[in-house]
Amino acid sequence: MAMLKAYLYAAAEPNTEQRERFLRFISKKYKNEYELVWVPDDMMGTGFKLVVGEEVYNWTSEARYNQLKHVLDNLNAGKAATGGELISLIRSTVKDWKAQVVAEEEGIVKTVGDGIAIVEGLSSAVYGEIVVFDCGVKGMIQDLTPGEVGVILFGDDTEITEGSKVMRTNRTAGIPVGDAYLGRVIDALGNPIDGKGEIKADGYRAIESPAPGIIDRKSVDTPMNTGILSIDSMFPIGRGQRELIIGDRQTGKTAIALDTILNQKGNGVVCIYVAIGQKASSVAQLVGTLQKAGAMDYTIVVNAAASETAPVQYIAPYAGTAMGEYFMNKGKDVLIVYDDLSKHAIAYRALSLLLERSPGREAYPGDVFYLHSRLLERSARLSDNIGGGSMTALPIVETQAGDVSAYIPTNIISITDGQIFLESDLFNEGQRPAVNVGLSVSRVGGAAQTKAMKKAAGSIRLDLAQYREMEVFTQFSSDLDDATKKQLQYGQGLMRLLRQPQGHPFKTHEQVIMLVAATNHIMQDIPVDDILAFRSQMLDYFHKNQAALCDQIETSGVMSDDDKQAIITAAEAFLADYQSKNLKDGE
Ligand code: ATP
Ligand code: MG
Repeated sequence: MAMLKAYLYAAAEPNTEQRERFLRFISKKYKNEYELVWVPDDMMGTGFKLVVGEEVYNWTSEARYNQLKHVLDNLNAGKAATGGELISLIRSTVKDWKAQVVAEEEGIVKTVGDGIAIVEGLSSAVYGEIVVFDCGVKGMIQDLTPGEVGVILFGDDTEITEGSKVMRTNRTAGIPVGDAYLGRVIDALGNPIDGKGEIKADGYRAIESPAPGIIDRKSVDTPMNTGILSIDSMFPIGRGQRELIIGDRQTGKTAIALDTILNQKGNGVVCIYVAIGQKASSVAQLVGTLQKAGAMDYTIVVNAAASETAPVQYIAPYAGTAMGEYFMNKGKDVLIVYDDLSKHAIAYRALSLLLERSPGREAYPGDVFYLHSRLLERSARLSDNIGGGSMTALPIVETQAGDVSAYIPTNIISITDGQIFLESDLFNEGQRPAVNVGLSVSRVGGAAQTKAMKKAAGSIRLDLAQYREMEVFTQFSSDLDDATKKQLQYGQGLMRLLRQPQGHPFKTHEQVIMLVAATNHIMQDIPVDDILAFRSQMLDYFHKNQAALCDQIETSGVMSDDDKQAIITAAEAFLADYQSKNLKDGE
């Protein structure tokens, strides 16, 4: 039988005494006789690398330096030593430090392709660990089977071939985080892709981390205003809530998220937009819009475009969330948009199938539900004793022909606090934003809605539901009694009032005024096609003549009965004005 071989990589050949020391160490550790083979390697400097089986003992200066670096990196973890304390801590640590001979594992690529490598060896690697290939490309372990691991690659796989070497790093995937990322466009690994140079990071965060527990949370009580009348009035969103935006393609899903970001200007909310599997041109356009509106100052865009590999698209939302957690843990309010999770699920399906996991419903892997719940559970409103920050999530899901009962939509509906359902038919009729009032819901936002909005919105949702029912019912009858006609007209007027162009968010007091005027039938006799013109003239009128009232509602968020009456009186005065002017115009 051939003798087992151990390989010694070193610049100089070991002398007899050194050789014996190595062999003694090996036979003690591996209980077997080995032959020591010297491999001349100038790169080793004064150090060496000993390879026994699949284990590597790295005694190069680089490895020792890395060990020391690791010790120093973790020095202050959990303690908050400062200034002089820290210096003496470093001094004593360095003095006592001794390099250790530890076995590192080295793996060998068995197969590679489609952004996935199957690696033999690495028997003690852990799930989610980052590994480095000898060409410098990084990957993450996603599959553990006896004898081999499946690695998803975060870079070009053309330089990786069968037989390439793979090293463990003992750390899980993470991205650099910091305040300097605001205003920047980055890829899923945190590298800038906007051509504005390096970004100075304040730290490094694992992309996967556990969601805050129930003790660390508090209930949602502050509004996250979208500036969109139909949403803020009927489906209010609170800070820390997860509200799904769902609809077919081209129904204005991204527009709602974008408008919400624009509406956060000047209120201290940090926005993160994660683009998954989108056309690069759409993302560029969106960034352009944000820049023009001055919204990039408080926004970070994480882009994993359609041209990226499935693994990169897969980690993008986790990377964005890690960035969000950095700000949330500093007590900030964060808004994160995942656009969209259907494409994320498809990326995960692709890499799971390549890893030969068995397909389940609609060929998605069985754990796709856990994948998304694990992601969305990280959005929270933190309790005051840990800073009181929050992360509000707006995941987006694309449906096929309005089918909300497909696998991914049902999953995500069940793990969010409500959904804004956008409908193609409404969108095509010109009813934009195309919010379907019957199928949309917000489960926790009501508690966060300002008192003024709640009072103003009143029964509008019910009124609209009644209108829709009546509309269907009266479709085929020609002669209707006056009361029915009036109610139909009122409903049509309300629907028209809810139309809103993109990029024109309304302030709270504007929404309150519109709702009070509408629900008190001020616009009853305005022809439907004139409602939008009437609306903007009425708001101008209020800004000019009722500035104090507008201001007071905006800042306090409450509307007393007197305020409400004042709005009705002023709206009536404007109506009289408007009608007499129109009469004159008509003459
Ligand atoms: P996709 O499925 O391609 O991602 P989407 O559902 O995200 O599409 P958007 O891209 O937001 O839809 O919008 C589709 C088109 O409708 C865009 O041209 C957008 O400008 C327009 N649009 C969206 N909302 C409105 C609105 N409120 N008023 C007028 N036009 C709108
Ligand atoms: Mg979109």
